[in-house]
Amino acid sequence: MEIESMVANSALIKAREGGGSKGRSWKWREMFRFSHISQCADLAETIERDYYSLCVKQPIGKKLFQLFCRSRPDLQNYISLQDALVLLLKKLPSPVTVVTSMFFQSIQCVSIMLKHEDSCIQRLELDPCLDVFHEYVFFKNENNNLSFSSRQPITKQTFRQYRLLGKGGFGEVWACQMRATGMMYACKKLEKTHVKKRKGEAMALNEKEILEGLDSRFVVNLAYAYETKHALCMVLTMMSGGDLRFHIHNIGEPGLDKDRVRFYAAEICCGLIHLHQKSILYRDLKPENILLDDNGHIRISDLGLAVRLSEGKLVRGMVGTLGYMAPEVIGRKHYGMSVDWWGLGCLIYEMTAGQPPYRVKGEHPKAPEMERRIQTEQLEYSDKFSKSAKDICSSLLNTDPKQRLGCQSSGGSEVQAHRFFRKINFRMLEAGLVKPPFKPDPRLVYCSDVQDIDEFSSVKGVILDKTDINFYSKFNTGRVPITWQNEVIETGCFKELNTFGPEGSRSPDLDW
Ligand code: ADP
Ligand code: MG
Ligand code: MG
Repeated sequence: MEIESMVANSALIKAREGGGSKGRSWKWREMFRFSHISQCADLAETIERDYYSLCVKQPIGKKLFQLFCRSRPDLQNYISLQDALVLLLKKLPSPVTVVTSMFFQSIQCVSIMLKHEDSCIQRLELDPCLDVFHEYVFFKNENNNLSFSSRQPITKQTFRQYRLLGKGGFGEVWACQMRATGMMYACKKLEKTHVKKRKGEAMALNEKEILEGLDSRFVVNLAYAYETKHALCMVLTMMSGGDLRFHIHNIGEPGLDKDRVRFYAAEICCGLIHLHQKSILYRDLKPENILLDDNGHIRISDLGLAVRLSEGKLVRGMVGTLGYMAPEVIGRKHYGMSVDWWGLGCLIYEMTAGQPPYRVKGEHPKAPEMERRIQTEQLEYSDKFSKSAKDICSSLLNTDPKQRLGCQSSGGSEVQAHRFFRKINFRMLEAGLVKPPFKPDPRLVYCSDVQDIDEFSSVKGVILDKTDINFYSKFNTGRVPITWQNEVIETGCFKELNTFGPEGSRSPDLDW
């Protein structure tokens, strides 16, 4: 390894280790200085103010609500129940827990909890929640109140930049660290000139808008979208474990062991179900686009080709990556979610066999030949495939989308019910409670050396004008509230900044 790479890697490893409080700028408190509460008055008009949004969906709201309940003897039941639910879910995952937790996430529960306070109930009925919880919606911090979401602009200076992680179609992906909190992220840059030259505006905006509407542990989160002079930037969950391509092909013998294949396939399956529930068709499943985090969980990334389907509609278009496209895509037909289940079949095949389907090692057939094979050839399964692995692959790689696994009315749950996944407890998996079979080494950087990643070529002669600026302003929306709130909590900033308690004091006996 060259010295340049070693320096870049050790800087990144050091930043990752110090992630959180050690990585914060010494001026971090100053960076958190937000507008006075009186200047946030308009927020009260624009934010969703119902119980679900304030106390369940918004991570900081949820935290404040829990603290509020802890500080009130009459609300202890709520907290005890929440704690019990978490334990129960770990021990005895059953539909019952889900029903109860859904019940407790409804406004009724607030009334039940406040049973002994008739006046509260009445006030709640008049204005569900704000009347009672209003003062707790904001951090109380003498004269600089921190609102749910800050309004400081996001610029290049908001982050420290570390090494280059990868290269994409429109630009590079870099490791970066948010200065105010110390949180590590990956910044996907789209070069403005490249985007313009290749008419990628709609695609860039599409990727950003789809990501911003998602909140799944199986899909990368978007934390910030901002622009610099030369680039549009999407700041994404840092996936330090590298992509599946690297794990399948660059570490030891090609392929992965059975437990890993099953675990990754199951998490991808959950990610697909989440996307499909939101009517999003992903269209680009392949090992490069599945990334590992530092604990060994995977997330689907690169939503550049994803589309939102309108109710019951299908789409058309030869879109995807050669070798991973479903027969109905190659056949220029209308298609729907079926293509993603085909993609999952390709992935399970490649993870098991150590090579992609319909290709032998080192071979790069041209498009027409690849298409012919996909549409007409019978796949070979080596003895690396167990009976159930072979069965799930051939069911997902059924050339007829009507008969393919996952494409019946029950959708993804049919895939989850396949014998291949019999050892997976999907409820636990969805709650993030299953320990991954492989944990990336925190001392390693799972990507190619910096100098082996091709330099991103610049384009000349492209002039940016007014119409471009209009598009940039749609892209450049700054923080994504939920991800930002999680960042503030995870890095401990919330704990240090929040002086919650009666009259704005910090209550010493609060159990964090
Ligand atoms: P493109 O849409 O141009 O294909 P990608 O989003 O796939 O770009 O990113 C290109 C490469 O950058 C990926 O293959 C991966 O190696 C790296 N990369 C992308 N996102 C992340 C991330 N969140 N964490 C770590 N590495 C990433
Ligand atoms: Mg990609
Ligand atoms: Mg892409």
